[in-house]
Amino acid sequence: MVKQDKKLSLETNTVNSHPEIDLHENVVIHDDRGLQAIIAVHNSNLGPATGGCRIYPYASIHDALTDVLRLSRGMTYKSAMAGLPLGGGKSVIIANPAEDKSRDLLLAMGDFIESFNGQYIAAEDSGTTVDDIKVMALRTRHVSGIFADEEFGGDPSPVTAYGVFLGIKEAVRYRLGTDLQGIRVAVQGVGNVGHHLVRLLRSAKARVIVADANSTRVGTVVKEFRVACCSPAAILSTEVDVIAPCALGSAINTSNLPQIKAKIIAGAANNQLEHAALGEELFQRGILYAPDYVINSGGIIDIHYQQQGVRDIDVINAHVQKISATLANIFMESDRQQRATNAIADEMGRARFMSSVPRFAAA
Ligand code: NAD
Repeated sequence: MVKQDKKLSLETNTVNSHPEIDLHENVVIHDDRGLQAIIAVHNSNLGPATGGCRIYPYASIHDALTDVLRLSRGMTYKSAMAGLPLGGGKSVIIANPAEDKSRDLLLAMGDFIESFNGQYIAAEDSGTTVDDIKVMALRTRHVSGIFADEEFGGDPSPVTAYGVFLGIKEAVRYRLGTDLQGIRVAVQGVGNVGHHLVRLLRSAKARVIVADANSTRVGTVVKEFRVACCSPAAILSTEVDVIAPCALGSAINTSNLPQIKAKIIAGAANNQLEHAALGEELFQRGILYAPDYVINSGGIIDIHYQQQGVRDIDVINAHVQKISATLANIFMESDRQQRATNAIADEMGRARFMSSVPRFAAA
């Protein structure tokens, strides 16, 4: 169901026939008080639709809609595969986080989130910080990931990185039959997650090469962990065992896929494949792909425990460690059925959330 609560920037029919519209329960486009934003609830069978609030200077509402529809869908599958009592949702604010972010904008977003009456729960994402979410929390209690604690802030990135690290370890064990010592890993993007991931990989004695569009970040990681670096244009075609995409979506596309020399793709980024059919091509080429929403679910697991008021890192890590077994199961099924890992994961995820009774009626 699609609603527009103020100005109609897109025809409702256009939204309903958008190529990324799936089984979405509720999509609202908001344009008021200087806030242009969209909240998409994909599915709430397993619980409230939970997912980050992204601020990005999209070129058009159409682009923003594409992103929020894809990301909210991914959150449903992610939480289902992580065994969490959460549904899938996401929100986007069309703005430049470096220039347009203001207290008024964040408060208006808080009001918009509140209008969903708990059907959608927001958390930090690209372009937002824990402090931004705390401002939204002045207007709504339906936010998460703002747990104030000295040792662990609300930022889920370290836990996401831990899950990705375990996923890489599992993929290497499955495909190469070894541990991480001496394994060559190319990390694309050393932001919040990538930085922590490099630390974990180095502590397991992997050989790491990094690239980032931000040269300061590269410099920090190279100095801190004594790793190699290369240009962003070269990172995916580097001669390595594993590629870990930890930057933006669509990292793997039709033009760069043939240049990949790695045997494994396993990283943090959401929507790593430009389109789902590339999963089949990776499978045919003998490249083991760890489905993104499975391997990067550490963040939503962390957010869930924050929401429950649980900050016992042993409890959280024990849940994150299940990512290894879930991936192993997907890899084995993929080999048994001779089908792409992302297709197998989609099927498993769908079976989990579609077998559950809806918790919220569409608003
Ligand atoms: P971030 O913004 O902190 O880091 C991303 C980094 O990628 C930045 O340093 C940026 O400069 C770099 N980058 C952008 N384009 C690049 C390119 N073409 N080549 C190389 N580097 C490039 O984001 P993050 O929080 O580390 O998240 C990374 C990815 O993981 C995102 O796709 C995010 O959606 C996903 N993810 C993050 C979490 C989390 O807990 N933060 C959880 C699940 C998924």
